[in-house]
Amino acid sequence: NRLMDVLFQPQVQQQLDDEQSSNQIAKLVGAETIPDWPSRNILLANAHGLHARPATQLVNLTKTFSGDLQVSVDGGSFVSAKSLTKLLSLGCQRGQRLTFIAEPDTDAILALDQIVEAVRDGLGEEVEPIEENLFLNSVLDQDSSAETEQYEITHCGIAASSGLAFGPAHVIKPKKFNYDRYAGSLKEEKEKLEIAIRTVKNTIHQYISKSASKDIKQIFLAHLEMLDDPDLIQQVHLALNHNLSAAAAWHEHIEKAAKAQEGLKDKLLAERAADLRDIGDKVLAILCNEPEVEEPEQPYILIMHDVGPSDVARLNKDRVAGILTSIGGASAHSAIVARALGIPAVVGAGDAVLNIDSHAVVLINGDTGEFEVNPSPEQIEHAIREREVQRLRREEAEKSAHEPAITTDQHQIEIAANVGKIVDTAKAVQNGAEAIGLLRTELVFMSHNSAPDELAQEKDYRHVLDALEGRPLVVRTLDVGGDKPLPYLPIAAEENPFLGLRGIRLTLRKPTLLRQQLIALLKSADNRPLRIMFPMVGRVEEWRAAKGILDEVLQQYPCENLEVGIMIEVPSAALLTPILAKEVDFFSIGTNDLTQYTMAIDRGHPILSAEADGLHPSILLLIDQTVRAAHANNKWVGICGELAADPKAVPILMGLGVDELSMSISSIPLVKAQVRHLNYAECQKLAQKALLCDSATAVRELAE
Ligand code: PEP
Ligand code: MG
Repeated sequence: NRLMDVLFQPQVQQQLDDEQSSNQIAKLVGAETIPDWPSRNILLANAHGLHARPATQLVNLTKTFSGDLQVSVDGGSFVSAKSLTKLLSLGCQRGQRLTFIAEPDTDAILALDQIVEAVRDGLGEEVEPIEENLFLNSVLDQDSSAETEQYEITHCGIAASSGLAFGPAHVIKPKKFNYDRYAGSLKEEKEKLEIAIRTVKNTIHQYISKSASKDIKQIFLAHLEMLDDPDLIQQVHLALNHNLSAAAAWHEHIEKAAKAQEGLKDKLLAERAADLRDIGDKVLAILCNEPEVEEPEQPYILIMHDVGPSDVARLNKDRVAGILTSIGGASAHSAIVARALGIPAVVGAGDAVLNIDSHAVVLINGDTGEFEVNPSPEQIEHAIREREVQRLRREEAEKSAHEPAITTDQHQIEIAANVGKIVDTAKAVQNGAEAIGLLRTELVFMSHNSAPDELAQEKDYRHVLDALEGRPLVVRTLDVGGDKPLPYLPIAAEENPFLGLRGIRLTLRKPTLLRQQLIALLKSADNRPLRIMFPMVGRVEEWRAAKGILDEVLQQYPCENLEVGIMIEVPSAALLTPILAKEVDFFSIGTNDLTQYTMAIDRGHPILSAEADGLHPSILLLIDQTVRAAHANNKWVGICGELAADPKAVPILMGLGVDELSMSISSIPLVKAQVRHLNYAECQKLAQKALLCDSATAVRELAE
């Protein structure tokens, strides 16, 4: 807009004609300028990115020069390389490119070589060197993508869902369209619009005929309905009669309809605005001659800024081989859903991934967080071999999945499953689950379009208990809030939803809802082993209030085989376990939230979540305290956070005396197999050493 303004001022036009440098032009139009200073690039190799220690080393070096030194990450904005806070705010991760620029005619010029050398040497840390490669060049300059094939490339995000996957990249990013607002011929514009809509409809029909999933078919059928909406078509035609181009008329009315939809009170209906925009963009892409990025035929790597839990739930597992996102953390709910679906995922890999060429082959490793663009045939071969090794290991583990998990010195631990869909219970049992250790009932609620009443809930819980065939069911009462909003249970917008009305704090304020859920649970139990637990308890009063409501309900619906416990996921509850253990029947430690709240790092934070490691000694100390308090009162303790299936955590958690580990279904056979190779006495020694460590990295090294 600013450029347009200045273009209409003749004297500025003259100046523009005279200027040669893009920076001077940028200055003229008041845009941000990047100094034309000498620069050097280097990939950061530090495993945990440019965190405080290496950043301090860098600042110490840059400050010895008086000239100005600035730095940017992956082509982003430049900040002072002499400011520690600015450096940390860059959030630079391993594999990202640092560009240093130095003020001309000062001693800073001399600094560039020294800085690059110091960064290459790890800024005081031991680093695994990264080969300079053309990945980021290819990302910044798509034309050079062909050259990337010659290079060995490894980049790192956060490992979010186990497994190796490769396939063509399918990059989904916000689209921008250019079109003229007005057009010459009404007849031509009408024809163009008709053809575009017909083409999109044909593609959708093809998707429908190819899709095996009923849910996905339904989404596409709804898209066809939207394209046939007579009101929408009539509005667009009216606009065409006012000389608008087909693209302008279509875009404006789709956007208007989407905005109206967004404004609806019913959240579920409001979310359909995204579908309207989705089909709107498809038609617009044809009208603007913008090639739509076709969904590749073969299974692909889906690349997005972020994938929400509902996006993942809608994914067709046969088409999506793997997921790679710019932001997100390993214990964000989207990662948990990806794990439940068994789709390998790497998250938090930085915005550069959105620039990956849509035809490039991408290889991701959901166990290490590594990903590669245009891997060499050798790398693909290696991945296939590695996948085969994993498959064989899994196959071997599956053979004994129904055997108990007993260490070499005869210590047994219960291995249970985390479930969010009732139909998954049978799968959990097939995979060797000895119990359901966490039924996330808010996910069960989410599978209903409106709040399930008592009867509908009872039916769902009965289904789970039937499939368990006498095995225990640990069920968590509704844990809505945080990053899990429930469309039909609106909560007023909060500044910090993770610190707001979540879990038991919410249901205690909606006692009818809690009572209804408890009744449905008790009625479905038929004296089978039912364990009810309350989420997000932070104060003893909350536990007592919730237990009070349950006791009232129990008078009317008595239950023979019931245990009542709480989740330990708020540090205050962990610290008060000596008191709570006298009153509850069990604890289940939710390490995802316990880590988030202990370390004060949002579990889905794009930059920091990688640092929120559940093996941090502070979390282990809280787990240790919880287990001691429980065992002193003859109560049992489970772990139901993602840490329970982490191979490095398993021996430590066992050594701390945890009685049950509950995890995603696919992890069960592998963890059982691992336990059978462990020695409990050794695990206990290991755990004691881990409690004395000073960092999560040190604990992981110890476990290695
Ligand atoms: C946890 O916080 O560790 C947990 C199991 O609950 P959720 O991940 O559903 O918040
Ligand atoms: Mg939790």
